[in-house]
Amino acid sequence: MNLRHLSDTELHSETLRIARAERKILTELFHHLLEVQRRRLFSAYGKESLKTYCVESLGYSPDEAGRRIAALSVFASVPSIEEKLNSAELTLTHLLDAKSLFTQEANAGRALSIEKKVEVLNAMTGVATRDAFAVAQSFSPEPREKLRKLDVDHETLDLLQELQDLLAHANPKVSKSDLIKQLVRQKISELRIEPAAPRKVSKAEVLREVVRKADYKCENCGSRHALEIDHILPRALGGTDDPKNLRTLCRNCNQRAAIERFGLRKMDPFINRVRERQMAYRPGPANPRGSVEDGPFLAPVNFFVGSQDAGMG
Ligand SMILES: [Zn+2]
Repeated sequence: MNLRHLSDTELHSETLRIARAERKILTELFHHLLEVQRRRLFSAYGKESLKTYCVESLGYSPDEAGRRIAALSVFASVPSIEEKLNSAELTLTHLLDAKSLFTQEANAGRALSIEKKVEVLNAMTGVATRDAFAVAQSFSPEPREKLRKLDVDHETLDLLQELQDLLAHANPKVSKSDLIKQLVRQKISELRIEPAAPRKVSKAEVLREVVRKADYKCENCGSRHALEIDHILPRALGGTDDPKNLRTLCRNCNQRAAIERFGLRKMDPFINRVRERQMAYRPGPANPRGSVEDGPFLAPVNFFVGSQDAGMG
């Protein structure tokens, strides 16, 4: 499938259309799974449960199957949410957050009535997925905080355990999650320390100041990921390194800005390949690349001057 001939508007509306179709597929899947369950059809295929059927016959991972079946139980008890699922006012994530409230309340001996469940789902309708859990929890007298999964390797777990053991006297109850939080906070404040009294201002310091002024966020979308310095008037068009001509963008926004300035055809070879050359300001201890040994949390944050890579910022 080659989509290169589509205009930006066409590409956007096509993508919207497909996402809508995908949501419709989810509710169709729910209807089918409910009927498979009603007929115990999985048994005819030698599977012990709907979940096993989802994994072994339909090819979902155990995690994906578990999520769909948990959401399915919400869908089954409140079928009136189908339209909201189709229109994306409710998503799989909303249903899972509702489900964890329903389970938690049932386990605490406060099982919700159907009417109450409808009320919860109405309150969650149209709420951003990141806020859905808190909205659901507001219906509980003992609201919880959502725990997020984080994949860590065994070595990291062992290191956290060692640290936990070392801290056991002072703080026997500290969790691994708390330890990570403390370490990350400490590292962030280290990296944000203001430079000492200005000597000759180096280029790195200029860049650092630009990023600090932007509160360490992309000035277009607010992301903190892979920040880069962008020349507002590109250097290729006579723009200078004066701080007034510099702004902080995330890599994606910087790339989009370059595409809008120079055209996709010209930028394609630069941005759609693995970028290796990096330049710029690296706060914190000297460490050229943030090596693997630093682990995923403590590697230095790097700011790249992206457009300079392409030689046209
Ligand atoms: Zn951005």
